[in-house]
Amino acid sequence: MSLRSRRNKTQPRVLFRHQIKAMAAAADSPPTRSQALSGMSQVYASEPAIPDLFTSQPLIVDMLETESSQLQQKTIDECLPFLSGEQHAGKCNQHGVPRLDKQRHVKFLHKQLGRLPPQMAAADPSRPWFFYWSLAALTLLGEDVSIYRERLVETVRPIQNVSGGFGGGFGQDSHLATTYATVLALMLVGGEEAYKVVDRRAMWEWLCSLKQADGGFQMVVGGEEDVRGAYCASVIISLLGIPLETSPDSAAYAAGHKDLFSGLGEWVGRCQTYEGGVAAIPGIEAHGAYAFCALGCLSILDAPHRSIPKYMNMPQLIAWLSSRQYAPEGGFSGRTNKLVDGCYSHWVGGCWPLIQAALSGPNSGKARSADQQAADTGSLFSRNGLIRYILCCCQDQTLRGGLRDKPSKYSDAYHTCYVLSGLSSAQHKWTLRAARPTGSAGGADEWEAMPYVEDEQVFNEDDRIGTTHPVYVIPQHKVEAAWEYYASKMGF
Ligand SMILES: [Zn+2]
Repeated sequence: MSLRSRRNKTQPRVLFRHQIKAMAAAADSPPTRSQALSGMSQVYASEPAIPDLFTSQPLIVDMLETESSQLQQKTIDECLPFLSGEQHAGKCNQHGVPRLDKQRHVKFLHKQLGRLPPQMAAADPSRPWFFYWSLAALTLLGEDVSIYRERLVETVRPIQNVSGGFGGGFGQDSHLATTYATVLALMLVGGEEAYKVVDRRAMWEWLCSLKQADGGFQMVVGGEEDVRGAYCASVIISLLGIPLETSPDSAAYAAGHKDLFSGLGEWVGRCQTYEGGVAAIPGIEAHGAYAFCALGCLSILDAPHRSIPKYMNMPQLIAWLSSRQYAPEGGFSGRTNKLVDGCYSHWVGGCWPLIQAALSGPNSGKARSADQQAADTGSLFSRNGLIRYILCCCQDQTLRGGLRDKPSKYSDAYHTCYVLSGLSSAQHKWTLRAARPTGSAGGADEWEAMPYVEDEQVFNEDDRIGTTHPVYVIPQHKVEAAWEYYASKMGF
């Protein structure tokens, strides 16, 4: 109430910045928002090649001052000197964008795979995540991560439980998140030695015990059920070629789910909220990471143009996803009224190729409808805005390297991975070349990545990074190699 009462109720709810300027000129005292006023004179001198959108305060000011609006203003003020080139003097290209400092980022990532300092002890149950984040990011930067194969295999073998799945460390309960991270890390280093670490029969039994009567998956036996579970389980089942039939002695089987994907699309659909985004579970707040988990899961259950519109309200979903990109920052926020953060470059940015495929369908050269043709061209979000945010605001300026949430934060392995994934999907255009036959759950669609060339390119061509599969978030050839290996193992 105290924040709300600061607004004079006779004043309009929102104002254009030029109106505030006129009001300020007409009166000695500012209308209300002091930050908005100080912001007016804070239009940075910009290089002509940087569009005003990225160097100026937002045109519309919400006159209701809240803790959220203060933080938002602080974030804009924090980002503008980076976006305008002021913080990168002499290091920008003609578009006002600095280089991607690959060398420093590679060095940072190799360090994350070595001995970590004592203050990281609290992150011990997340160890498999560090393997995945670092190996995935190194791969995107063009590094050969097979050099880590032996070490990874020796490290993760003891953290696999005989009852199936992987914990965060030795002796810890199996968890879908750490199992997902471990499986992806093994697929990244590749090779038979890595593939055969996974006990697929035990994994199948464990997955059957996580499958719930309502169609979803628990993260851990007896633990929480959410949309991460739906995505992690689908990725594991699909990549490892786990048989879909549920075990006759499982609770899911007794509830009528004869296969692991039964009822899952419906369960995920129930997580879409009144805002149009997707929540962790039905009935709570929509969040960018859960939107990606939902769309990724649905794109495994069936081809995206069939399954996403089947379970999601598309116009509402697109409206909510579009509202996540901010100006002048250019990056994405994860929730309504929250701040931009580099990791949503993937969680929200990674939704767009799946949405694009859902709208366009397979681009197999057949005659296209007018709607499909419209969806084929252009981009559903500002790719250059996102690339600008990533390269200007998310690169750690210190010798440490790595990528970060925003300029006031330090880099970490998590952000380095997901900021780079977001950069990759902004630099490339993914097309669904051919969809699996209708009704083949867990089947494979054919995707193709091409450099995105429809707009002016603001980054240097040398800074183009590798591609990552829009559903599995490891390179496409690593997904195909895993499928090929496990397809040769009939049953278990
Ligand atoms: Zn983040």
